[in-house]
Amino acid sequence: RAKEQGRNHWQSYAPAMNASMLARLSLESELRHALERGQFHLVYQPQVELDSGRIVGMEALLRWQHPTLGAIAPGDFIHLAEEMGLIVPIGAWVLQTACAQAKAWQRQGLGGLRLAVNLSARQFRQSGLLQSVREILAVTGLEARFLELELTESMMMQDVEQAISTMGKLKTLGLQLSIDDFGTGYSSLAHLRHFPIDVLKIDKSFVSDITRSNDDAAIVQAIIALAHSLRLKVIAEGVETAQQLAFLRQHGCDQMQGYLFSRPLAAAAFETLLLEGNMLPA
Ligand code: C2E
Ligand code: MG
Ligand code: MG
Ligand code: MG
Repeated sequence: RAKEQGRNHWQSYAPAMNASMLARLSLESELRHALERGQFHLVYQPQVELDSGRIVGMEALLRWQHPTLGAIAPGDFIHLAEEMGLIVPIGAWVLQTACAQAKAWQRQGLGGLRLAVNLSARQFRQSGLLQSVREILAVTGLEARFLELELTESMMMQDVEQAISTMGKLKTLGLQLSIDDFGTGYSSLAHLRHFPIDVLKIDKSFVSDITRSNDDAAIVQAIIALAHSLRLKVIAEGVETAQQLAFLRQHGCDQMQGYLFSRPLAAAAFETLLLEGNMLPA
C-alpha cells in the first residue's frame, strides 16, 4: 500500500521499522547470499564412548562467518533460514560437506567414525529429502552406516504418520537416526517405540544440573533406562565436568559429547584430536 501512495508517503513507515526489524532485514539479505559467498563452514565435536574413552563419532555443526557482522551462531540464523526456505540448500551443503570430510578421514585411516548431521524441520518435510541424501552418499562415497541424521521430537510429533513413513524410507538407505535434545520437546512415549530410531541424545539442560538437582538426576537416569529398554544407544550432550562424567558412567550412559572433551573444532583441529586418541581425562 505504501507504494500506491507514492514515494513521499513511504517515509512515514520508516519510524515503525525499529532496530530489530532492520537487523532482521539485513540478516535476511545477507543470509540469502551466504552460501554462494562461501561464508559457511562446519565444525566437528567428538562423541566419546564412556567405556573406552575413544572418539567413536562426531557431530557436524554449522558456522556462519560474515565479513562485517562476524561470527553468527546457528541459534541466530537457522530459524531464519528455515522460514526463508534457505535451509534446504544450506542443509544439503552441510550434509555433502560433512560426508565428504568423513570419507576423507576414513581414507586417511582415521577409523570408522560415525558422522551425525542435524536436520531441520523443513528439510525433514521436504519431498526430495530421500533422493538428496541418497545422492550425497553416492557422490561422496560415504557408506550409509556411518551416517546418523539427528531429528527433534517436535519434527516427529507434528505429523506422526508422515514422520514414521519418512524415517522408514531414510532407514532403507542403511543410515542411523537419532532424537536430538531429547526430553525438551513434546514427547510422547507411546509413539517413541514406533519410530525407527537408533539413538537418544539427552539434552544438555538436564545434564548440566545432574550433580546439583535430584530431579534432573532422576530424569537422566530415567532416559538412560528408557533408551536401553528400547534397545537404543544413549548419548549425553553438554558434558562439562568430571562429576557429570562420573554420574553418567555410573548410570550406564553409552556416549558423551561436551566441552569436557572438546568444543566443536574446525576440521584440521579435529584431525589432530583424532590422532591423539583417548579422550578420558586422567
Ligand atoms: P544441537 O544439535 O543440540 O547441538 C549441540 C549444541 O551444544 C551445539 O551448539 C554445541 O556447540 C553445544 N555444546 C556442545 N557441548 C557443549 C557443552 O559442553 N556445553 C554447552 N553449554 N554447549 C555445548 P551450536 O553449535 O551453537 O548449535 C546450536 C544448535 O543449532 C544445534 O543444537 C542445532 O539444533 C542447530 N544446528 C547447528 N548446526 C546445524 C545444521 O547444520 N543444521 C541444522 N538444521 N541445525 C543446526
Ligand atoms: Mg544435534
Ligand atoms: Mg542437542
Ligand atoms: Mg538442537
